[in-house]
Amino acid sequence: MAKTKFDWTLEADVVVVGGGGAGLVAAINAHDHGATALILEKMPTLGGITILAGGGIKAATDVGKAIQYLTVSQGGRVGDKLIATFAEGLVALPDYVRELARINGAEISIRNESHAGVYPFPGADGFYSISISAIPGFSGYDWAYTGKNLNGQRFFKILLDNVERREIPVHTQAPVSSLITDGRGEIIGVWAELSGERRAVKARKAVILASGGFEFNEKLKREYFEAMPVYAMGNPGNTGDGILMAQKVGAALWHMWHYHGSYGFKFDDYDTAFRIAPGGARNPDRPISWIIVDKQGKRFMNELHPAVQDTAARPLGYYDPDIPGFPRIPAYLIFDEEGRKLGRIASPVTVHPEHRYVWSEDNLAEVERGWIRRFATVEDLAAAQGWDPDVVSATLARWNEIAASGSDPDFRRPAGTIVPIATPPYYVVPVWPLLTNTQGGPEHDEQQRVVDPYGIPIPRLYAAGELGSFFGHLYLLGGNLSEVVISGRVAGAAAAALEPWR
Ligand SMILES: Cc1cc2nc3c(=O)[nH]c(=O)nc-3n(C[C@H](O)[C@H](O)[C@H](O)COP(=O)(O)OP(=O)(O)OC[C@H]3O[C@@H](n4cnc5c(N)ncnc54)[C@H](O)[C@@H]3O)c2cc1C
Repeated sequence: MAKTKFDWTLEADVVVVGGGGAGLVAAINAHDHGATALILEKMPTLGGITILAGGGIKAATDVGKAIQYLTVSQGGRVGDKLIATFAEGLVALPDYVRELARINGAEISIRNESHAGVYPFPGADGFYSISISAIPGFSGYDWAYTGKNLNGQRFFKILLDNVERREIPVHTQAPVSSLITDGRGEIIGVWAELSGERRAVKARKAVILASGGFEFNEKLKREYFEAMPVYAMGNPGNTGDGILMAQKVGAALWHMWHYHGSYGFKFDDYDTAFRIAPGGARNPDRPISWIIVDKQGKRFMNELHPAVQDTAARPLGYYDPDIPGFPRIPAYLIFDEEGRKLGRIASPVTVHPEHRYVWSEDNLAEVERGWIRRFATVEDLAAAQGWDPDVVSATLARWNEIAASGSDPDFRRPAGTIVPIATPPYYVVPVWPLLTNTQGGPEHDEQQRVVDPYGIPIPRLYAAGELGSFFGHLYLLGGNLSEVVISGRVAGAAAAALEPWR
């Protein structure tokens, strides 16, 4: 039979592709349900973008409320059974994370209980977040730069310690290139590079794809996003490999258009993009120094969306068919001398030690580098940008009127974030759509089984994490890490429950 013709180099009941958060949770759960598991990771280091996360992990107090909120916030793009499974997973999540955290004495804290679901939909008060506030003796991975925020790294440390305690084999620098089928469509293994050689790895029960998103696959981004370009930060290993592999064996794709993104900075002389300083959740009382204008110098958006890192990229993608190119890509952030002193405008995060960059608190180093341009007057700024000075002056006059009145009827920016822009010199810097992570990938059911375009599961193939994420419409802040846990638990247990094909 075709099933035996391969020269298998490695084997396990469950082969997990990707050593980020979802891959590790899936492997832990496969193991804990009686299966052997192994993890294949493309990069030299583990962690994917999980180690870059701000570390808010969403949980829910009440299944009914979570279902209510998720039903509205997913806009009819996700089935009821999957919504129910996700909601149940959100309620169960804190206890499970606490159980895993016993491995290293990690402290778990409850945060922003009142912050809830972010968007004003029914059921929004049924959420809260947890994060890992400390782990004795752990001060971060030397391959990740997330400033002072180690929450994501601590979360990953808990997972990694659990994998190590269970002695689950992990192979790094082992990119998986394709899935092996038995000729009848069952997935029986993968082709992976091991010590530089292409090798067949046997999966006796199942393969779980947990290879993350397509943040660094320019072709897929061009294909599925309307806005161009959309820059990325994070893990250059996230090139959507699992999406292509799943497509090749007949998977349906979903949520490919949807990414979790804001606006941020990309400079020609620096490989990695920079996210704007405000984190995921909007702080309505913290002043932010800038407004954003289009290529003509006109303001067009609320600079601080409810979930800052979620939908704020969307207004930049607006397309005006009367104008060649995108009128808001890049857009421009403008602030004044007082604003410059309000705190750094960018917050770098990267897994590249060589890209490590500490943005100056007063933004002056970046002015010196030429990333932020400084002008003595609004007229000088307009001339350098090629803008009509009357348009820019009118934009700033209107903004200062808004600042004086303390409310923004034009775009509903929260009052506490508004500061005037009237003290020279003036500063300008281009901003681009910047994705935090993608959500698209192979469609799956409530057991995390990858399905074909007719909704039929592809035998022995599962997905976990942001690869084919649950989120297809609006993001639930902290929800990707929840999904790492929820989908990893479900996929690992379901895969372990299968009978081996031999
Ligand atoms: C700056 C930042 C902040 C964030 N903050 C939060 C937050 O506070 N809360 C939240 O919920 N979410 C947050 N997110 C999103 C969240 O971190 C991710 O969605 C989640 O961690 C994805 O986990 P994953 O395991 O699916 O993917 P990853 O962690 O990216 O892991 C995927 C792994 O697969 C590997 N891989 C890729 N291709 C192959 C291949 N062919 N063969 C083998 N391996 C492969 C990759 O190298 C990678 O290691 C944040 C993301 C970023 C970038």
